[in-house]
Amino acid sequence: MRIFDSHAHYDDARFRDDADAVLQDMARHGVEHIINVGCSVPSSRKSIALAEKYPFVYASVGIHPHDTDDAVPQDLATLEELLRHPKVKALGEIGLDYHYQPYSRMTQLEYFIAQMELAQRADVPVIIHSREATQDLMDVLRRFPVRKLVCHCFSGSAETAAEIAAMGYHLSFTGVITFSNARRSHEAIRRVPRDRLMIETDCPYMAPEPHRGARCDSRMLKYTLAALAEIWGVSPEEAAEITARNAEEFFDI
Ligand SMILES: [Zn+2]
Repeated sequence: MRIFDSHAHYDDARFRDDADAVLQDMARHGVEHIINVGCSVPSSRKSIALAEKYPFVYASVGIHPHDTDDAVPQDLATLEELLRHPKVKALGEIGLDYHYQPYSRMTQLEYFIAQMELAQRADVPVIIHSREATQDLMDVLRRFPVRKLVCHCFSGSAETAAEIAAMGYHLSFTGVITFSNARRSHEAIRRVPRDRLMIETDCPYMAPEPHRGARCDSRMLKYTLAALAEIWGVSPEEAAEITARNAEEFFDI
């Protein structure tokens, strides 16, 4: 089985003591590629450092909606510069998150739109984070079309999934699809063409069953793949191969 983790955060504090040990164990578990995703300028730089250290790790750079309050306009120029690094494969994660209070909707929208404009200029794939913001998200996506875009940790409705796929974009699913109450995610998966779907850990979050609640890492993707394989009616190996090929094409690896 060859596995592609399209969204991970090994620069997170929860990996401070053992990121190296965990990453060195990946090959043994069939994990071939990992995209380490930036959430701010400092975490984007850490993602690049990890990508420089490990041949199978690639980076994305961006400002997460939770981090826009601490961002400064100069950060956009810095991101543009970081995008030229040969191991940076995408801009993200960027988007909107109206879950945690308080937040500034205006600031989130400003940085989201500025980064979508940057993605258009630089012509790079985009990784989207969206939570409880579907209407504003779809508005921005319609106004700022890009060549490649993935909605990560997708948790929306089957209708929204179908709409995003119809725009030519990708969707990525986490270990949430292994939960017993994941009917909504399963319905969304059925509406996405197979060549438009990727899998991810979003680690250290979103550990699949039977590790729900524990610190997640890419070695747990076999459980996510087993759940996906059941929905698709294929073997886990085949589900791994399809999602790995989709991610390789998407990130140009
Ligand atoms: Zn993330």
